[in-house]
Amino acid sequence: MKRRAFVGTLAGVTSAGWLTNEDFESIGQNVQRNSSPSELKITDLRVSVVTGAPMICPIIRIDTNQGISGFGEVRDGASKTYALFLKSRVLGENPCDVDRVFRKIKQFGHHARQAGGVCGIEMALWDLAGKAYGVPVYQMVGGRFRDRVRLYADTTEGPAGQNRKPGDLPDGIEAGKRLKARMDMGITFLKQDFGIGLLGGIPGTLSQPMGMTGVGRSMVQHPFTGIEITDKGVEILSNFVGQIRSVIGMEVPLSSDHYGHISVNSCIKLARSMEKHNLAWMEDMVPWEYAELLKQIKDSTTTPLLTGEDIYLKEAFIKLIDMGAVDMIHPDLASSGGILETKKIGDYAMEHGVPMAMHFAGTPISFMANVHCAAATENFLCLEHHSLDVPWWGDLVSPKPEIKDGHAVVPERPGLGIEALNESVIRQHLHPDHPGYFEPTPAWDKERSWDRLWS
Ligand SMILES: [Mg+2]
Repeated sequence: MKRRAFVGTLAGVTSAGWLTNEDFESIGQNVQRNSSPSELKITDLRVSVVTGAPMICPIIRIDTNQGISGFGEVRDGASKTYALFLKSRVLGENPCDVDRVFRKIKQFGHHARQAGGVCGIEMALWDLAGKAYGVPVYQMVGGRFRDRVRLYADTTEGPAGQNRKPGDLPDGIEAGKRLKARMDMGITFLKQDFGIGLLGGIPGTLSQPMGMTGVGRSMVQHPFTGIEITDKGVEILSNFVGQIRSVIGMEVPLSSDHYGHISVNSCIKLARSMEKHNLAWMEDMVPWEYAELLKQIKDSTTTPLLTGEDIYLKEAFIKLIDMGAVDMIHPDLASSGGILETKKIGDYAMEHGVPMAMHFAGTPISFMANVHCAAATENFLCLEHHSLDVPWWGDLVSPKPEIKDGHAVVPERPGLGIEALNESVIRQHLHPDHPGYFEPTPAWDKERSWDRLWS
């Protein structure tokens, strides 16, 4: 029944004396107001910070004048402040104007974690728009290319890695068994990190400035550390991956990351040594901003190369694609500009024959934003899942994300498809430094700033 007809009927009943005036006045409070999207307004933005997911993940809740809330998430490891300082810029806005509001706040994002607030809010805007109109997010950004989204799973070395002493060779057979267990769970696309961290204490594997510590070199960009990997070091890492392949076989795609901050020439040696193992990709071999260096590595090997998890907005992806500097792109939707910007990035890559894998490490909220974007982007390859070993991960929300045969099922529910947050599970995993559960944030309501970027 239409709202007006419903109220009219009751008014008639009231005049017959069946309901009191008080009853009549309370009717409006029970009416479902989600059907007025043109009058929807943002009234609040609050955050809860979860830890151990396995990352630290600030969850955003945006409330409205019509009783519906949208959920988003600041990228893993980033500060909740990146979202909170945007509150004053989104209060009073209609969240259904997703692109307009995104363009208003996008100047406050930057590469990597600093994009977390803009992207987290963008997710929540889509969630609200979907709930207001009663449609899933994938439908609003163009519809589906697939109804399930392939996952790729990170796998740690486990006890073999924790127990390894300096000078011990890495155990590829044990690592392979852990990857095989992922395959037995139904995972169809694997990831195993390896790099100079596995060579600790093994003589003759690295040449590096004497006395350089692990911490020191982790904060220096790859071209500037002066670290070169020796033939022996390359052989040990190649044997490690060979042992893994001997357990999991050659048929399943095996991607990789975290080689250490080694020079471009060492990257080329390492990538060439991996050709016989047919890796799905090597990731972020040097920082993404050195597009020429990435191209140099890519042009020197048949091992596929990708980058992108720290890039904000489409422009830097366009440059990498136009230069032919990568075989694939790898945006993290919580850094790249949110759902619509990431679809635009994927579509641009598609026109150049470049596939899009998606980096992701967060809670089911950001995960569902990825699932909708992946469903609606044609050249999508696979989406990362970092939390298969976290038993309560899916329970943070209701209903929990449906994962079947190594794929996320694309939901048909409105918005991101999350009906509610699971308060008790979130409360159990709140970060000790941020123990509040979506506490009021009035300190961020007003900010005086002239934000125009031009004169
Ligand atoms: Mg990575």
